[in-house]
Amino acid sequence: MPLKRSLSETLSIYSSVHFPWSSKKTTKHRHRVVVGVGGNVGDVKRRFEHLFFELQRDKRVALTQTSLILKNPPFGFMEQEDFLNTIIVLKTSMNANCFLAYLMRLEKKFGRKRSFANAPRTLDLDIIFFDSLVMNTDKLTLPHPAWMERESVLIPLSGLHL
Ligand code: AMP
Repeated sequence: MPLKRSLSETLSIYSSVHFPWSSKKTTKHRHRVVVGVGGNVGDVKRRFEHLFFELQRDKRVALTQTSLILKNPPFGFMEQEDFLNTIIVLKTSMNANCFLAYLMRLEKKFGRKRSFANAPRTLDLDIIFFDSLVMNTDKLTLPHPAWMERESVLIPLSGLHL
């Protein structure tokens, strides 16, 4: 994977075939969603590319932008590989709860097993922003509660045009 820049001893930025990427196509889908994507098990970069194709051929969503990929250390449980994180921006007509269920099905499809908090993961998908919706239910908090504290979100996000 081509290294673009080393930001510090622990943080580096990479690019990949479709990361970063952007589309000028117009879409009728109503909502703009910023999705945080992460993983640290197996060939994560390849999984990001698979996810890109999976989303690109799904009519329920329209991809608009992706960010660079950030390699960064784990938090919480430290005895695991570094994470790769990226951001995908897309449009959809699903509402926020349906879209969360959709992401959880994708995580499952890509082999995610839930074990313990902050455990290693094949694919972690979080809704960072859903339009400018603010909500806090048992299932869904928007914007994502930790987005302002996480380099894994802030650094990829900083290169996007939102
Ligand atoms: P995680 O271990 O980070 O994948 O946590 C997933 C759980 O967080 C799911 O069961 C969701 O119901 C809940 N959750 C709350 N807010 C969000 C959000 N903005 N994006 C994704 N999951 C969320």
